[in-house]
Amino acid sequence: MANITEVVAALIWDGHRFLICQRPAHKARGLLWEFVGGKTEAGETSQQALIRECQEELGITLNVGEIFMDVTHEYPDLTVHLTLFNATIAHGTPQLLEHNAMAWIGISEIENYDFCPADVEILAQIQAKAPRCQWPNLLTSPLYMEYHDHEWGVASHDDGYLFEMLVLESFHCGLSWLLMLKKREGFRTAFDGFDPHKIANYDDAKVAELMDNPQIVRNKAKILATIQNAKSYLQVVEEFGSFDRYIWSFTDGQTVRHPFDGVTNRNHLSDRVSKDMKRRGFKFMGTVTTFSYLEAIGVMNNHAEDCFCCESACN
Ligand SMILES: [Zn+2]
Repeated sequence: MANITEVVAALIWDGHRFLICQRPAHKARGLLWEFVGGKTEAGETSQQALIRECQEELGITLNVGEIFMDVTHEYPDLTVHLTLFNATIAHGTPQLLEHNAMAWIGISEIENYDFCPADVEILAQIQAKAPRCQWPNLLTSPLYMEYHDHEWGVASHDDGYLFEMLVLESFHCGLSWLLMLKKREGFRTAFDGFDPHKIANYDDAKVAELMDNPQIVRNKAKILATIQNAKSYLQVVEEFGSFDRYIWSFTDGQTVRHPFDGVTNRNHLSDRVSKDMKRRGFKFMGTVTTFSYLEAIGVMNNHAEDCFCCESACN
């Protein structure tokens, strides 16, 4: 078995964000991002090594806390046993003494950086442990968590996406959103990639075909409503230039907040939008469904205050 190199690193938090550093181009794994740290030298404890490395590389003194986790990773040239400690800065401001760059990032920004392979498992753990909205079944369904972390409440100005969500939300009425997510690709295939021009022209034969398709929710009233909603959607696009312009006009283009409390499922805004949509012929878009729709597309951002998505999306 190859020798194992003991490495320590610091997960340095400033409250909401943690510090990452980019390796210099000339070193192994050059320009990949990592947690600051390094090899433990003979005679040092892990904590002593970490404090020394952070002084050498960033000019800061650390308060070293508990171990966050440890991983073993085999690189082609060496096997690393990495122990990551929770830490905060006791003294100093980080300076680039060895690294190419550094960044304080929130949990929702992890995907924007290429990390050293040894860190990937750690980052997944940081994401898994992040505080989130307390939705039933959220933590047990990766599909649901992916949707919560990356889609829900993110402001969308893409007409294709706005229509897709309109279709899914109108079918969602009375069912769980998780079920809709599971059937989403089935819907996409059955409804011609959510193309409103095609859907607006569906005939009786197509409706019969959809009623026979187990990949979607087979509810004739909702299928007929979707055809009508495609027609109303196209009329809105014609009148406003885009559906985006229409749906965001109710808040003057601003995202508004009504944090998730497990109780509220309608408000003055959803009443107003729902009423206007009904007037334009939209079906199955009552105020509760409209509330849910406005949350989905980010007109309302309703992540809980302590949810990690709140910071990036709510400010
Ligand atoms: Zn949330």
